[in-house]
Amino acid sequence: MTSELFNVIAGAPVPGRRTFENIDPATGRVIHLVHEADADVVDQAVRAARAALQGEWGRTTVQRRAELLRAIADEIQARFERFVAAEVADTGKPEQLARTLDVPRAIANFRSFADTIAARGLDSYLTETADGGTALNYAVPKPLGVVAVISPWNLPLLLLTWKVAPALAGGNAVVAKPSEETPATATLLAEAISAAGLPEGAYNVVHGFGPDSAGSYLTEHGDIDAVTFTGESRTGSTIMRAVAPRVRPVSFELGGKNAAVVFADCDIEATIDGLARSIFTNTGQVCLCTERVYIERAVFDVIAEGLVDRARRLRTAHPSAEGTDFGPLISQQHRDKVKSFFDLAVEEGAEVLVGGGIPRVEDQLSGGFWIEPTLWKGLTNTNRVMREEIFGPAAALVPFDTEAEAIELANDTDYGLAAAVWTTNLKRGHRVAQAMNVGMAWVNTWYLRDLRSPFGGMGLSGIGREGGIHSMNFYTEPTNICIAL
Ligand code: NAD
Repeated sequence: MTSELFNVIAGAPVPGRRTFENIDPATGRVIHLVHEADADVVDQAVRAARAALQGEWGRTTVQRRAELLRAIADEIQARFERFVAAEVADTGKPEQLARTLDVPRAIANFRSFADTIAARGLDSYLTETADGGTALNYAVPKPLGVVAVISPWNLPLLLLTWKVAPALAGGNAVVAKPSEETPATATLLAEAISAAGLPEGAYNVVHGFGPDSAGSYLTEHGDIDAVTFTGESRTGSTIMRAVAPRVRPVSFELGGKNAAVVFADCDIEATIDGLARSIFTNTGQVCLCTERVYIERAVFDVIAEGLVDRARRLRTAHPSAEGTDFGPLISQQHRDKVKSFFDLAVEEGAEVLVGGGIPRVEDQLSGGFWIEPTLWKGLTNTNRVMREEIFGPAAALVPFDTEAEAIELANDTDYGLAAAVWTTNLKRGHRVAQAMNVGMAWVNTWYLRDLRSPFGGMGLSGIGREGGIHSMNFYTEPTNICIAL
């Protein structure tokens, strides 16, 4: 049944003048009619956020904010099944993944930032004392104000709350613009936040697209104080231009073209398992997914065979069916893009080891945006397929002979998000991981996260780091006070 999703402003549902269809990517069926926010609705949301800052929310103490964040985590937990169902319907991802990754991580995001501010205090702190104690300096961290949170469709709730939790922890008011592809969990989050007892207006949701819609109306609004964004590098560049006239701070988590480097001394089975996870999780639609795998020549064939075997064993089926571990892509448009890379890879001389096409699926799924897990060999870093982000379940396998060559190949990219190094040589693990020009380098694992550690990218992959206190440094601004003694 098709239901309607409204914008949420100061706790109330707000219709738009137009609606758009939200599609279930597993079946192609319409699941929601979503009310698109025009410039007036976005303006109402920004005003509601400003009013919250000027009211009770603006006077909330740090300890109280930590309690409220924990209460939000509890309210998400209380709606766990509804969040899972909404996320699966919007994304088509295997239910198992939403159950073990997306929704638990959203809960963890709120708890983790509650811990960060409760421990650190985020109240005023001593900074420097001048020579001989002639002056005392202390700093008072303040909220930035109204923070625009713009999020993508691949891990909708997880990535939205990764921004909303620290923004609220810092005392900001939020206007969230979830992806047009996945509007449901951001809307449901408004219900959880209200139930947790946050003053209305601290969190608002506007729906719509990017250009000439809610996204650009929000970033171009004259009364927002910062933009925190996760999405494509090109969109990040557009948003930077939008906020440039008013010089607003931005935090950007953008695209990747992530490499894995596999040495002959790796634990072969564990490496194949880890690589397969890093290539195919969420149908390759994770910014951290590996798309380039450099493999020391002596183990190239065994690793390639193992990965092909893992790709063949992935179970493509309805997201809620028992044992499904491979879902569809998010949309027809995205599948067209990914499929065009599959065709390009062949034009560029790739040998297809597995996949490369659109699979046959059961009748009820035939309207969905399914794709095959795909692996190639025979490509080099000069190929477009090796330089542009595909954001699908595909990777190119490339042999190397020396450590120096592997480092050079892995770093030969305009992106700089994540890398993984597979080796049992401890010294080499440290050495190669440190040589990677990325925000996050893993050794013998992938996507293992401590939410307090810095997360972000270099180059086209982003600006800034978030996580624990790194997030709080973005979402607050200190005023330093210097008293002559
Ligand atoms: P996208 O850039 O197309 O859209 C992201 C959000 O920005 C959506 O809400 C969209 O409506 C909005 N938007 C688009 N144009 C806009 C504009 N001109 N002004 C304001 N808002 C605008 O990205 P996507 O396709 O939703 O997500 C996939 C991309 O996100 C991939 O490149 C992926 O690597 C990246 N990503 C990065 C991370 C990270 O942490 N680095 C995490 C997840 C996804």
